[in-house]
Amino acid sequence: MNLSERDQNVIWHPYTQMKGADFPISIIKGEGTYLFDENGKKYIDAVSSWWVNLHGHAHPYIAKKVSEQLNTLEHVIFAGFTHQPAVELAERLLTHLPSNQSKIFYSDNGSTAVEVALKMAIQYWHNRGEEKKKVIAFNNSYHGDTFGAMSVSARSAFTTPFKHFLFDAIYIDAPYNGSIDKSITQLKNAISSNEVAAFIFEPLVQGAGGMLMYEPSYLQQLIEVCNANNIITIADEVMTGFGRTGKFFAMDHLEAEVNIFCLSKGLTGGTMALGVTSCSDKIFDAFLSDDKTKTLFHGHSYTANPLACTAGLASLDLLEMDDCWNNIKRIEEQHQSFYQIIKHNKHVKNIRQCGTILAIEIETGDGNGYFSSIRDKAYNYFLDKGIILRPLGNVIYIMPPYCIGEEDLKYVYQSIEEFVKSIKS
Ligand code: PMP
Repeated sequence: MNLSERDQNVIWHPYTQMKGADFPISIIKGEGTYLFDENGKKYIDAVSSWWVNLHGHAHPYIAKKVSEQLNTLEHVIFAGFTHQPAVELAERLLTHLPSNQSKIFYSDNGSTAVEVALKMAIQYWHNRGEEKKKVIAFNNSYHGDTFGAMSVSARSAFTTPFKHFLFDAIYIDAPYNGSIDKSITQLKNAISSNEVAAFIFEPLVQGAGGMLMYEPSYLQQLIEVCNANNIITIADEVMTGFGRTGKFFAMDHLEAEVNIFCLSKGLTGGTMALGVTSCSDKIFDAFLSDDKTKTLFHGHSYTANPLACTAGLASLDLLEMDDCWNNIKRIEEQHQSFYQIIKHNKHVKNIRQCGTILAIEIETGDGNGYFSSIRDKAYNYFLDKGIILRPLGNVIYIMPPYCIGEEDLKYVYQSIEEFVKSIKS
């Protein structure tokens, strides 16, 4: 039996209907933009392995740093103890985050970063003797797969089986295409109940919801309403952080300050699992007390794992180099040129771009949802061509590692163009 066959005997894969599932592709090696399967076939990783990879696979610099750390300290309990990679990473993240952010709380992944943010926001009110029972979120939002994160995500096929177990959120429309007045009205109505603890959002790009995008100036207005009404704001930058939108954080595209940030994915350059929730003094101070019940009772066994923090530091070293930003700029420019070419195709319903993310929504005539039939066709078409693209329903998007070469990116565009042309009208 080869590895893929052995896998099917013993493994249950994420986001996969296992009945009739194709054999998973067995990857034996990664190098830069490429992944290689057991038959020697090469793939361009055009979705950065679920949006985590920034600098390419098996990056020698990150590998060297993690391997050095592995020989020094692999892990230590993080309650009552600390270590150099955790402290240094926190210090350096804070130099990139807006100046009101003052503390870093570590966890394991994007969903846990969101759980921690929600717990900080809800307990902030509890510690002050006020019970606030509602969180505001956007329609089409996605914040992760744990119960708190699902609760503030849009209700969908992902959440239906759990609907009786999720807490209520109040949904407002994200301000797409200039619809800011409606969003503001909905936000003000939601706030008027006086029960709202927090507003959580994916700044500028709603990822899993279909790479839906909206303007910074509109988000600015919504945050200003929250700040004026003392609603805690949570920027979920799990996907948008670390250069994806063309700036270090998506929130760098606007002026308004938020109370809490959630980070993960690109945090370690895609090398290891790590989550961060940062907060301002306003939040942190509400937990300082002689009363021990006001503690934030949250922590994971692998909190602040030294190897993951080291990968984070190595990734930051690379991210702070001009080379990396030149690549981000080049990808943005290449995306913009392709945008102008593909937008005229009659099968293209909508096309949107933010920084290194380009999303092309295909007109399918079959409901256009996450379960659109075009999804599997497109996925397999690109795999055949040696490209990993994982459309979200009828939305084909590119989110490459920043090291992707000009020619490889052109090959991805050309394959998308061919696929779109091959659609029967
Ligand atoms: N928030 C956002 C905005 C995300 O895109 C994701 C993952 N796609 C998450 C949270 C959850 O992250 P993880 O998959 O690491 O739990």
